[in-house]
Amino acid sequence: MDQQITIQRAQEMVDEWIRTIGGRYFSELTNMVLLTEETGELARIIARVYGDQVAKQGDLRKNLGEEMADVLWVLICLANQTGVDLTQAFRESLEKKIRRDHDRFKELK
Ligand SMILES: [Mg+2]
Repeated sequence: MDQQITIQRAQEMVDEWIRTIGGRYFSELTNMVLLTEETGELARIIARVYGDQVAKQGDLRKNLGEEMADVLWVLICLANQTGVDLTQAFRESLEKKIRRDHDRFKELK
């Protein structure tokens, strides 16, 4: 297993898994639904651990990291099958946030 996994390497690893084990990518629409489902599973834990909802037995079978990884996995699938370079997209997003928001949150410091 790689020592360090860049975003690009993660995209490659997911693609390798899909091609060798997963068979094929689910359709973009199916993966969008799965991303929503996984986001809901993450939200379920957040609501019960950090929010006001009370956990039932079995609610916390999976931990926060596992659910975040599930969300990331499906997001990477969507990026791969739609030709999005997440490294470049993240870089552009960060640059935009730095440019746009450099004074926005100074009151929170
Ligand atoms: Mg999940």
